[in-house]
Amino acid sequence: METGIRRDPLASRVRRVKPSGIRRFFDIAATMEDVISLGVGEPDFTTPDHICQAAIRSIEAGNTHYTSNSGTIELRRAIAGELKKHTGVSYDPAHEILVTVGVSEAVDLALRAVVEIDDEVVTPDPGYVAYEAGIILAGGVPVPVPTSAADGFEPRAAAVAAAVTPRTKAILFGSPNNPTGSVISRAELEGIAAIAQERDLIVISDEIYSRLVYGVEHVSIASLPGMSERTIMLNGFSKAYAMTGWRVGYAAAPRVILEAMMKIHQYAIMCAPTDAQAAALQALGEGEPDVERMLAEYARRRRTIVDGFNSIGLVCHEPRGAFYAFPSIAITGMTADDFTEKLLNEERVAVVPGDAFGAQGAGYIRCTYCAAHDKIEQAIERIGHFVARHRA
Ligand code: PLP
Repeated sequence: METGIRRDPLASRVRRVKPSGIRRFFDIAATMEDVISLGVGEPDFTTPDHICQAAIRSIEAGNTHYTSNSGTIELRRAIAGELKKHTGVSYDPAHEILVTVGVSEAVDLALRAVVEIDDEVVTPDPGYVAYEAGIILAGGVPVPVPTSAADGFEPRAAAVAAAVTPRTKAILFGSPNNPTGSVISRAELEGIAAIAQERDLIVISDEIYSRLVYGVEHVSIASLPGMSERTIMLNGFSKAYAMTGWRVGYAAAPRVILEAMMKIHQYAIMCAPTDAQAAALQALGEGEPDVERMLAEYARRRRTIVDGFNSIGLVCHEPRGAFYAFPSIAITGMTADDFTEKLLNEERVAVVPGDAFGAQGAGYIRCTYCAAHDKIEQAIERIGHFVARHRA
């Protein structure tokens, strides 16, 4: 008898998810020497020492067990304080805050908690790669809202309204946005809030880059009148505190939604890592000078990279947040894939093709400025040589 699997072993929704377009070039880059990577979206800084020490102390004190499924109450209280300070919204740490394994888990929980099979979820394009995948894995249908360089890639409320149908359940967006660095203004958020209220939609607001903004205010949509009741706000420690490897983030939402997310979390995850929660508590308590120090350095690099791209002919809008530049490569006439591969082979600079983040990213590349300032200068010089050779 045939003993191998004879039926399709995979669920169709998993088949429908494309592998992330971000990692592809890094396997090639890893085999090469002298590569400058503007590819991976994570801080090049190591976690501030006092934060690491807090985790070490926690382990040494014997805190090696599970915590409450929701996260330690001390951390949830500190998160509530942080949210009150930065957004003005009050959340009950006992019922409205859940500590998660990064914002990654929180995105997945939020979608799985609210999306019914075939529900539509409206989300800006280009946008973070996990959004589309998360919507599909939750059984939903992603509906892209096109954004454009002419608007600095800021999603327009009118475009959101145009994407909403009777089947829409939620709007999911990140502000500041990965990959474009766009920050949604208060006025556009008010427009989006009005649509959500009129059409009775849930808003999933990924605010992981909320502390990394340059000369503009970050507004949480949950802080607008009537919006905390229908918003799942997500934030975390990976970016602002340089804590990607610790895997800790959180969701804040109305109790009925939070409890549904918690139900999934307790079965799938149990709790976020205990030592990471101790580190996160320390970050909220004492990490503000670190956030400011790193932010100042990102601001300096941002100026260099954006001006650098514009000076070599790759037109680059002003990113207002996060740590990504998203220049146009139209001048070369190449596809983003072609550009990325040739740039890596010829000049040893790793970037990410813009269409890895959605169809509207075609003709752009995403470059992080999570690299030392002098590396960014060198990268711009190398890309400048490349562009000079390949101008269409
Ligand atoms: N959301 C956005 C917009 C991101 O860019 C990232 C990471 O790149 C995440 C969420 C995931 O972050 P975490 O490390 O908290 O899981």
